[in-house]
Amino acid sequence: MADMDTEGAAARRDLAVRAAVEQGLVGGAGTAEPLTCLLDTAGIRASAAALTGAFAAALPPGTPVLHAFAVKAAPLVPVLRLLSDAGLGCEVASPGELALARAAGVPAGRTVLDSPAKTVAELREALELGIALNADNPQELARLDALVGRAPASTAAPVGLRINPQTGAGAIDALSTATTTSKFGFALRDPGAREWLVRACLDRPWLTRLHIHSGSQGVPLVLIAEGVRELHALAEEINAAAGRRRIDTLDIGGGLPVNFASDEATPTFAQYVAALREAVPALFDGSYGLVTEFGRSLLAKHGLVLARVEYTKTSGSRPIALTHAGVQVATRTAYAPAAWPVRILPYDAKGAPRTGDPVAQDIAGPACFAGDLLAVARELPRLAPGDLIGVPDTGAYFFTAHYGYNSLPRPAVHGFTVTDAGEVRFRLVRPAQDVSEIVSEAGGDLRDALL
Ligand SMILES: *Cc1c(COP(=O)(O)O)cnc(C)c1O
Repeated sequence: MADMDTEGAAARRDLAVRAAVEQGLVGGAGTAEPLTCLLDTAGIRASAAALTGAFAAALPPGTPVLHAFAVKAAPLVPVLRLLSDAGLGCEVASPGELALARAAGVPAGRTVLDSPAKTVAELREALELGIALNADNPQELARLDALVGRAPASTAAPVGLRINPQTGAGAIDALSTATTTSKFGFALRDPGAREWLVRACLDRPWLTRLHIHSGSQGVPLVLIAEGVRELHALAEEINAAAGRRRIDTLDIGGGLPVNFASDEATPTFAQYVAALREAVPALFDGSYGLVTEFGRSLLAKHGLVLARVEYTKTSGSRPIALTHAGVQVATRTAYAPAAWPVRILPYDAKGAPRTGDPVAQDIAGPACFAGDLLAVARELPRLAPGDLIGVPDTGAYFFTAHYGYNSLPRPAVHGFTVTDAGEVRFRLVRPAQDVSEIVSEAGGDLRDALL
């Protein structure tokens, strides 16, 4: 069974595209915006419920669980607020992400800090606020040795160690965190590492957690589950050596891959839980509290980029549609198209799905470099100026991680809901960046600084 009603989501999307045109959020002509981004609020809620439901169904009642959304996947305050309302917390990896989580009202007790390069000031702040943090390396641990005793006992921030199980790479090298030489965490299989880690925990009564984040796009479930099994085994070893349950919480990270090839949302959170139960049954016996840190799998399917086709042309007899969606909203697709293919949904100028005989076309963005393409030789009904293209599955790490090339503005993001009567209601989540903001962020007020 799918976590989500895929047909319902596709129907909502088509209604939203038409409404976005009718309500003037984006348009085929005139003064309407050439580019906007939509988030399906009901879809996000459904994914959050699927996540919490899948784990709740597998754990004994009362087991402490925190699902911390990885803020980098969609650093938008109203999104964090929505997820918080659905019972989730935040995983943050920078002062900016922490500030977003706090702006969304996410309590310290539901926030986890994971950056690999935390400064002393960041560590101190996390300890003072009572934010859980996971140390990445021995030098960070030494800093914590000096800081932990000094934080007010009342906050009692839980501290853990990030472990790299060195279980191997997935299909995308740049996203593989569990390779032998990965930059993340304490490498578990290096000579002497295991003994060192057990001793480090025995020596520090305040170390109560172990953390792993070994999944990502391109990593199969069994490999992710293998990493979690290693984490659990290490916790058991530490607890046996301590003679009591020193490690009481396992943070198993995020990294559930997303299907970019169709509307189907697979693998599901339920399938992931099943894979974990298979590999590490004891993880679900209630003896450890759990933390998860999903990002992409919670948001990706619920985002849509909508862009106007400004011109069409042919080059070397290849039809090309020049649109307003390119590297600034789909950075990974432009630079690594084989790893990050996206679907293109054609709509006419009124926002109705465009039909017609398929013709191989390039879908190009507005930026000034040759690789600024969202699709090459894609079979689609022949696009015309004023049409719109929709780029689905872009709710995580795409338009939410804007790339400022060519000073292209951050587009607006609108959340939408569809009433039972089929009426679409939009809520502004992030305003479009104004050209004056681009000037000021580029030192506009410092014009004479170098004279
Ligand atoms: C990026 C990241 C996540 C989220 O990963 P997804 O693939 O988006 O689920 C979770 N934890 C850590 C430590 C991360 O760096």
